[in-house]
Amino acid sequence: MIQINKSKELEFQQIAELHFKKLNENLLPTRLKLFKEFCESNNFQELYKIIQENLKIIICGKPNELEKVISKVEKLLPNEEDRKQELLRKISSVFNYGAFSEKQEDIGKWDAYRLVEKLGVNSCPYCNCQYTFTIIDEDKNEKIVRPPLDHFFAHSIYPYLAISFYNLIPACAICNSTFKRDVEFDLENFIHPYIEEFGFNAKFTFIPDSYEDLIGISKSHNSKTQLRINPDIDSSLKNRINNNIAIFHLDDIYSQHDDYIKEMIRKQIIASGAYLDMLLKQYPDAFQSKEELYQFAFGNFPNEEDFHKRPLSKLTHDIAEELGLI
Ligand SMILES: [Zn+2]
Repeated sequence: MIQINKSKELEFQQIAELHFKKLNENLLPTRLKLFKEFCESNNFQELYKIIQENLKIIICGKPNELEKVISKVEKLLPNEEDRKQELLRKISSVFNYGAFSEKQEDIGKWDAYRLVEKLGVNSCPYCNCQYTFTIIDEDKNEKIVRPPLDHFFAHSIYPYLAISFYNLIPACAICNSTFKRDVEFDLENFIHPYIEEFGFNAKFTFIPDSYEDLIGISKSHNSKTQLRINPDIDSSLKNRINNNIAIFHLDDIYSQHDDYIKEMIRKQIIASGAYLDMLLKQYPDAFQSKEELYQFAFGNFPNEEDFHKRPLSKLTHDIAEELGLI
């Protein structure tokens, strides 16, 4: 679990404001007008007022502000199931995720492709195992591919948060569709990738099953890779980290990457415990910085703010540390 493009953290609010500006140019006002008529004839004026007053917060408010909106809106939903479902369908048509996520004919139009392009996230923040590229071919006038957008707060339950900036998490298809699906997430029980990450609070550790594992030559997959949670952190954070690990099957998935770890073990053994020093000695003029040397040695990025650029970056970092490679 890594944070969404940490190097752009300061820009998120600007992107969120742009998202609001683009949506508010014509789409939202038109849809809200129709919704207002529906609310007036069905006695939902108070709910309309809350949505209208909180519109900007709904679209670009931070995750904790979205939770406040949830508590305001949920109180006003009717108890009667049919009436409630009809209202939720109308709300869905205002905050229409289907339309936002479709490939638009007009390549310049603001939509899910343009939003994830701005975020520039290349690996899934939930698992950091899969790439999440966005490709828009400006010359061919074509939006080619983008990652799915996971709704942190499920849009089937909270349709008014369906196109909220901080509720749209660019994730891989496995995390989004296979693992998370409509599981009800909240800030009390789960880590939100726009504002947090595992960082030093949970680190990967390799648990060998044999001597061959220990020296990196085993062909079996009996070893395990697990996230070890820092025992000194508070129980609420521990609980949230554990919930993320469980939902996204992180221990199971990372145990499949034992080959990657064994390669690192072999590098360490071959260089008698000083792999980076060995490279530096052999190629003294090849590297401009420590970061470049690390990247060459392990095929990944050493700094947290770059973890989003390539899958397995956190695993590489934590195991390199555990093996004493860095
Ligand atoms: Zn993923």
